[in-house]
Amino acid sequence: MSEQSKSDIARREEATLAFWDKHNIFEKSIKKLSPKGEFIVYEGPPTANGHPSLHHLEARAFKDAIPRYKTMRGYHVRRRAGWDTHGLPVELEIEKELKFSGKKDIERYGIAAFNKKCRESVLKYIDEWQKFTKRIGYWVDQSKAYFTYDATYMESVWSILKYINHDGRLYKDYKIVPWCTRCGTVLSSHELAQGYADVKDLTVTVGFKVVGEKNTSFLAWTTTPWTLPANVALVVGSDITYVTIEKKDKDTSSPTRFILAKERLQSVLGENSKYTIIKEQLGSELVGMEYEPIYPFMRELATTTEESKFKKAFKVYSAPFVTTEEGTGIVHTAVMYGQDDFELGTKVGLPKMHIVAPDGLFLTGTGFLTGRFVKDEGLAVDIIKDLAKKNALFSKEKYEHTYPFCWRCKTPLIYYARDSWYIRMQDLRGEMVAQNKHVHWEPEHIREGRFGDWIAGAKDWAISRERYWGTPLPVWENTDNSERITIGSIEELKQRMRRSGNTYLIMRHM
Ligand SMILES: [Zn+2]
Repeated sequence: MSEQSKSDIARREEATLAFWDKHNIFEKSIKKLSPKGEFIVYEGPPTANGHPSLHHLEARAFKDAIPRYKTMRGYHVRRRAGWDTHGLPVELEIEKELKFSGKKDIERYGIAAFNKKCRESVLKYIDEWQKFTKRIGYWVDQSKAYFTYDATYMESVWSILKYINHDGRLYKDYKIVPWCTRCGTVLSSHELAQGYADVKDLTVTVGFKVVGEKNTSFLAWTTTPWTLPANVALVVGSDITYVTIEKKDKDTSSPTRFILAKERLQSVLGENSKYTIIKEQLGSELVGMEYEPIYPFMRELATTTEESKFKKAFKVYSAPFVTTEEGTGIVHTAVMYGQDDFELGTKVGLPKMHIVAPDGLFLTGTGFLTGRFVKDEGLAVDIIKDLAKKNALFSKEKYEHTYPFCWRCKTPLIYYARDSWYIRMQDLRGEMVAQNKHVHWEPEHIREGRFGDWIAGAKDWAISRERYWGTPLPVWENTDNSERITIGSIEELKQRMRRSGNTYLIMRHM
């Protein structure tokens, strides 16, 4: 911009900035007498992957005004700049630059080389940010800025994690994620939103035989027939009315009975279907009933730990997510392949185990399914044929719905349980709510409002990502998970290496 075209305000600002610079005004404000002591500011570091924009200006204006005010009131206010340099957005940018289509490409390229690229890309933006920060008159000490990729910074995260583990708060569990079987990666909600498309899938209504009652089956409907071999429970709504109907087929001598939601009778059986209602009851009365599993694979593949959980499996449970808007009002549950399913499984203690590998192929030991891809259309057809053979198929139908695809490679995504590390938070809710009452908030309504709501409903915190450009988790476990070590510092890691003669003794890095 030429000097002539600048507004008076811009010229005045630049003159002021030059004066501050020349006379070290910021440094002097830190060194001046501070009779009231320290006022601590933690600079929440901006993500340096991207250009600074207007909303950053707004946030920085607030972060500047308060320290200046406190300085004038007689406090010593140190402000150390920081940069949030890690994370998926950085990786995605480099993947785009190198024309990669996922984690496999990164591993072929080499993780160290890939991370080096990430690091360089972040530094590129930091220059731009520093100019921006200076120009908007934001006082922050950039000479001692911290970077989240610095080993010393990551070490501080290690030391916190070691403490958290020592406190018994670090644990590993599964987490249901939108998963691309081809790229071998989880998709963020932002990425997920980019890849929806309308598709026609085969859906089935399946009969699960009630234990101890002849010729009676629960009817459940699913849009993902591939999850049926992983079924471990059926779910009803406790306040929904269910009916047992009797239907006589031409080709069978004995009548067949089906249980489903009363409201769904017409849609499931069809307008002209003939049947007799022989029983009507609430969902809550069905809870606890047992049914025969259709497929034996879950039980056959179970480890000793999971085996004991099977006494809870193949029963009817109730949950609030069940509705009578579609299907039969009875929901088939495969704990590892759906969010609602997983939450119910966690709550009641159902077995958590995979019959499908992360590449989307059925594991060995799953009979005719072994080695086949879950989203292969022929697979749904084969499962339907098999259900018919087992006399468990009630009906099938093509169903048009919106389904998520990987925005990178167009593979249909699946909901899939992946290992994840968590910090246990839920039992701290009460204490956090109590402490929050003593916090001064501006504006005040946030205390009980947005922030208050958030801590009152705080969930356990999933901290791990299966990515490369981030702080490595300092957790080692032996192969049967019976021993775990968390390393709190680089020195501690060195000592352990020395003690084990520089060989990796226990090591499966998570
Ligand atoms: Zn993909």
